[in-house]
Amino acid sequence: MKRVYVEEDWCLACHLCEYWCAFSNSGKDNMVAALKNKTIKPMIQVEEGDKINFAVSCRHCEDPICVKSCISGALSIEDGVIKIDKSKCVDCYTCIMACPYGVLMPNEDEGIMQKCELCTPRGTAPYCAAHCPNQAIIYEER
Ligand code: SF4
Ligand code: SF4
Ligand code: SF4
Repeated sequence: MKRVYVEEDWCLACHLCEYWCAFSNSGKDNMVAALKNKTIKPMIQVEEGDKINFAVSCRHCEDPICVKSCISGALSIEDGVIKIDKSKCVDCYTCIMACPYGVLMPNEDEGIMQKCELCTPRGTAPYCAAHCPNQAIIYEER
């Protein structure tokens, strides 16, 4: 299946992927309406270093330890995509400790965990990949 992969050598640390992710998951059709005057809570986050930058998001592991670790059954696999049922999440942070890639992000406003569910809005590639200006995020099958 296709997944999101990052090419750290190409990342400009522009953070645009974070904004496109927040827009994609907003449920709105208009980016201004979705993001203006809001603190964004993206499912992808860019780590900046002295020599290298890279975007961090869920790798949709084939054998996901986060699903095994979830104490409430909130995490599951659907067609290879690791999904979260927010109504079942008890915000215990067990999945955060289990994930070896540090990609799970608590949403303090809602008191629940949030994660990338590999959005493909309007039949496109995920917005983080579709709108990266330097092709540092790629959506493909490997
Ligand atoms: S949009 Fe692309 S270049 Fe910009 S921070 Fe994200 S991964 Fe890096
Ligand atoms: S695939 Fe979608 S939800 Fe996942 S990080 Fe990219 S834009 Fe965000
Ligand atoms: S949350 Fe972590 S462990 Fe779970 S599928 Fe994503 S990268 Fe893998």
